[in-house]
Amino acid sequence: MRRKPLNTASRSKLSKYAKPLANLAILLADAGSRLERRFWKKKLFAALAPMLESRSDTTLVQTLDHLYSTNYRAYDELAFAIENTVESPAIGDGSVDVLLLAAPILAWSTYNIPSGKIDESTVALFTELLHKNVLSDQAHLVLTNMLFSPDQLPESYTSAAELARQLGQAAVDKVMVRIDTENLPATQSFLSDVRYLIGAIAVPNGQPAFKWQVESHSNGVLLSKEEVLENWRVVGSQALQKIMPGCLLELMLPNGLYNACREAEKEARAYSVRASAAFLESALDVPPQKICASVGAFVDRGEIEEYRIGFSLEGTPDVVHGVVWPLIGEEYGNEPDPVYERDIESEPDNPVIRSKIEALLKEVGIRKITVLEERFPLEYCEDCGSPLYPNPEGELMHAELPEDSELPNTMQLH
Ligand SMILES: [Zn+2]
Repeated sequence: MRRKPLNTASRSKLSKYAKPLANLAILLADAGSRLERRFWKKKLFAALAPMLESRSDTTLVQTLDHLYSTNYRAYDELAFAIENTVESPAIGDGSVDVLLLAAPILAWSTYNIPSGKIDESTVALFTELLHKNVLSDQAHLVLTNMLFSPDQLPESYTSAAELARQLGQAAVDKVMVRIDTENLPATQSFLSDVRYLIGAIAVPNGQPAFKWQVESHSNGVLLSKEEVLENWRVVGSQALQKIMPGCLLELMLPNGLYNACREAEKEARAYSVRASAAFLESALDVPPQKICASVGAFVDRGEIEEYRIGFSLEGTPDVVHGVVWPLIGEEYGNEPDPVYERDIESEPDNPVIRSKIEALLKEVGIRKITVLEERFPLEYCEDCGSPLYPNPEGELMHAELPEDSELPNTMQLH
């Protein structure tokens, strides 16, 4: 559940609401038995539910920030508990459990990747396909009439909790949910991106929710998640292609919102590197052997936040395209030092991620890979806010395609 806190207020004094919450998380992290864990867990969940309903995001974020730098295990416990409480609100008499569900889709296209409203028959079709291929027979799914872009997902814990309550109630009552798609934030246009089908499932207490929790009737063996994903990919891709024309798609395993989003974000990075290589080859008409990739680690508050990959053409210093590779969840270092002001130069690299990036670049045929030793600050273009990428000399540059490239004009560079 590791993610980096959003602000630097971690060492400020905790509010009167945050303090008891932090204490509960610490007590849970220190519990010596399952018996004791259960006790603290119950108390923690009971404390979180009203906070999520009363929109106390500040308290939640402040407590997470504080624990991130003072008690890492308690931080993990609290983050996990918040996500669980958000996704599975208590609804009705408690005989039914609900889960906020996301089905991520990785997509790439040189044209716009669709998002927003989807028609009724498509909603009905996806609902049926998910029931048949991903969910248990006992689960009842209600899907929204919308294809979400990352910009349109709920931003805060409390807004996600509100969506979970609304969809969860509909799943319990077995009624449809229609989202007002008019006032949603605009979707930024990228070469490759993620889209989400979002819904909620309701299952009677103690019953399985997904196919991989159910023994097959024929041989009594559990279906693996890989098999479920394979089945979903076959039927889901076909149906999605109709509402996402001109896109190359890769469906990910539908799951609880936070897990599904994290897995999709992780997978989207490699997907985006592959898409970029294919895009550069076609837009610039160059073989991958002529493309150079420069990989740099970008730090914030002394920790590596993301890697950025700058693509250049052989023999020129210009960056023609770039990919950001953010670290996600447990990929952040081990327990962080409570003092942020560390010597950036001595900060250990993340060798696992770095070699993953290198291997991927080689896989797409790029041979000239420069892994830069130095650490870079998180710099963005002052005009358009796009990230700056390193060139082979370690200079940070704005990514710009040469003017004569065959780029469709609907495509934004950033
Ligand atoms: Zn710019």
